[in-house]
Amino acid sequence: MNVELIAVGTEILMGNIVNTNSAFLAAQCAKYGLSCLYQSVVGDNAERIEEQLRIAISRSDMVIMCGGLGPTKDDMTKEVAAKVMEQELVLYEASLESIAAYFAQRKIEMTANNNKQALLPKDGIILTNNNGTAPGCIMEKNGKSVILLPGPPNELIPMWKESVVPYVEDKIHATIYSKLVKISGVSESKIATMIADLIDNQSNPTIATYAKVNEVHIRVSAKAEDESAAKKLVKPIVKELKNRFGNYVYTTDEDTTLEKSVVDLLIGNDLTVGTVESCTGGLLAGRLINVPGVSDAFKSGLITYSNKAKRKFLGVKKSTIEKYSAVSAETAEEMVRGLHGINKADVIVATTGYAGPDGGSDDKPVGLVYIGCYVCGKIQVREYRFKGNRSKVRDSAVAAALEFMRECILEYYSEKTFGSNDR
Ligand code: ATP
Ligand code: MG
Repeated sequence: MNVELIAVGTEILMGNIVNTNSAFLAAQCAKYGLSCLYQSVVGDNAERIEEQLRIAISRSDMVIMCGGLGPTKDDMTKEVAAKVMEQELVLYEASLESIAAYFAQRKIEMTANNNKQALLPKDGIILTNNNGTAPGCIMEKNGKSVILLPGPPNELIPMWKESVVPYVEDKIHATIYSKLVKISGVSESKIATMIADLIDNQSNPTIATYAKVNEVHIRVSAKAEDESAAKKLVKPIVKELKNRFGNYVYTTDEDTTLEKSVVDLLIGNDLTVGTVESCTGGLLAGRLINVPGVSDAFKSGLITYSNKAKRKFLGVKKSTIEKYSAVSAETAEEMVRGLHGINKADVIVATTGYAGPDGGSDDKPVGLVYIGCYVCGKIQVREYRFKGNRSKVRDSAVAAALEFMRECILEYYSEKTFGSNDR
């Protein structure tokens, strides 16, 4: 089924907000086996919305529009779509009541213009909004569907999951089941080579890869008459991916982040952790502390940005910095030892590097980062060379540090070594 996305809103067109809704919907289309062939953005202008919608309907089976369902004058998506789909808008008492209840619950006065949100297509399918006031709706004509969703992502995402997914599954007479295999520590190009045969032969399940910062996610989706049949199709492929990537697969759970997998590993093994950061300046501690429950593991973190701080708080030797510089394996190792001396954590991670844009030299360029990791008595230091601007280098260093921690902890417990050229 061919799908087309239209995001409505002048603020998107002007670059004031980022069109995350279309990114979300496009990824969901891929997940549910819908071919998203076109995406567009139109401002809050009735003529242009109409023109774009007519073009979209002429070439796609399903058009998903988002934004412009609110109560104000510049919200006109529904009115235009009703005109194009030749549907009459009528007052839905039930929707009006739930809008009134939404306001009453929050003790906010409901203004007259909110009634507009209860005007919905007479023969449409109404999508309840449990997180806001504007209901969504679906209009059908000549075998084509136009789906209208509210702009705020916290309303659009649940409405998509609760109402649109079942509608789509019903339409394609199938259930779609998918698993996300999340891999960290293996480059995107290496992954592409390692799964080329699976990608080439795919039809059902489909396999799609998504590159993230130092991670690659592989989505395996299958279509079948019911969920258990779809699961059966997905299972062997996931197993095969786990075989091929081993411990580099850190999770197959959609909601588990890399930092959560690290924290689970720490807590699961009763390990405490400390961070000592130079170039990442607290980002690493921040990501770990983002994980609820980390207080069982996280002892303390230090940001020792200047050489003076590295010496004063961690006891990094002046001679080490002079001989090898602050960005070196030797300094990273002394940083690790320094924090261990202070907090005695079971796992300590240190980062030191050149995030740029200034600094660095031919042999020590911007992007050069050393990460030291101590696990229960053993210290390892790795050298990385990241590309990109300052924030990209810092984000990459944090992701690499998390991955390195995983590897060192897993190694400690299993004595299983990771291939060093896999990065
Ligand atoms: P409201 O009832 O809040 O007016 P709406 O359905 O009319 O909702 P818009 O007015 O178009 O939607 O947008 C409301 C807000 O939703 C925007 O200010 C923005 O924060 C968010 N939003 C809208 N469209 C998008 C988009 N494509 N991607 C991400 N966020 C969006
Ligand atoms: Mg609006």
